[in-house]
Amino acid sequence: GRESCLVGLIGSGVGPSLSPALHQREADRHGLRYLYRLIDIDPLGLGPERVGELVRAAARLGFDGLNITHPCKQTVIEHLDGLSEDAALLGAVNTVVFGADGRAIGHNTDWSGFARSFARGLPDAPTGEIVLLGAGGAGAAVAHALLTVGADRLTLADTDPARAAGLAGTLATRFGAARVRTVAPGGLPAAVGGADGLVHATPTGMAAHPGLPLPVELLRTGLWVAEVVYRPLETPLLAAARAAGCRTLDGGGMAVFQAADAFRLFTGREPDATRMLADLADL
Ligand code: NAD
Repeated sequence: GRESCLVGLIGSGVGPSLSPALHQREADRHGLRYLYRLIDIDPLGLGPERVGELVRAAARLGFDGLNITHPCKQTVIEHLDGLSEDAALLGAVNTVVFGADGRAIGHNTDWSGFARSFARGLPDAPTGEIVLLGAGGAGAAVAHALLTVGADRLTLADTDPARAAGLAGTLATRFGAARVRTVAPGGLPAAVGGADGLVHATPTGMAAHPGLPLPVELLRTGLWVAEVVYRPLETPLLAAARAAGCRTLDGGGMAVFQAADAFRLFTGREPDATRMLADLADL
């Protein structure tokens, strides 16, 4: 591992991000000099199509790596020298590592973050039939994770049918058409009724998007419910699911494990995700 590390986060509106604190607290425990800078494209007057300028600047200034967030996870790809297999399959990069040779390689730790959080928080949860609400960036990472860890079949639901169809097409190519289908909102009761679990990956439940993403009557004992929203950690959906007797998983684990996986890529050191989860709870 390195003795010091300079990294950053590029995206829109990154000011409130918890990533600097999560990374720097873990680095402190490793005795590592670690700076995690926020690089917000909005005050810089840069659109997502100009993320390449920032990536090149960071490389020249000696950064070891970058996290990349909304709305740059796709646009960054053409500016990189290579991609991990997973990032290439997902078509999204949330972590860039600058090698000693100057090459910038893109990775995706959102999907591995969800996979590790799911394994830890809902061990032995049945994964025969899973309904995924939301086919955007987070939904794509979750879908990739669930099919990679062996879910038999995923049903995608999105209020924008084109997004559900688009993601289903990509997943069918990768994992086989028999393992993926889409459902219109009207088909949700039947889909959830026959499912082992539900993953929520829309912004519903955040302050700007209050409320529940599906009718509360669809929640029942025996259905597990995993949340991707982590601000707040306790969403109306999680509260309703728990009240209905569901096993639940909050979105904090995905946020922490994606940070832990990025920390390992940046530093070559093994992060302690349990300590990082405790940090998140007190941030
Ligand atoms: P996005 O805009 O890319 O995708 C959201 C999708 O949800 C859209 O396709 C939209 O049409 C759909 N949608 C909205 N309301 C819906 C509803 N009621 N039913 C069905 N579909 C609906 O957003 P994103 O980047 O995927 O982020 C989604 C949420 O996930 C955000 O709250 C974000 O903060 C969170 N997130 C969490 C983590 C984590 O580490 N825990 C990582 C990434 C994103």
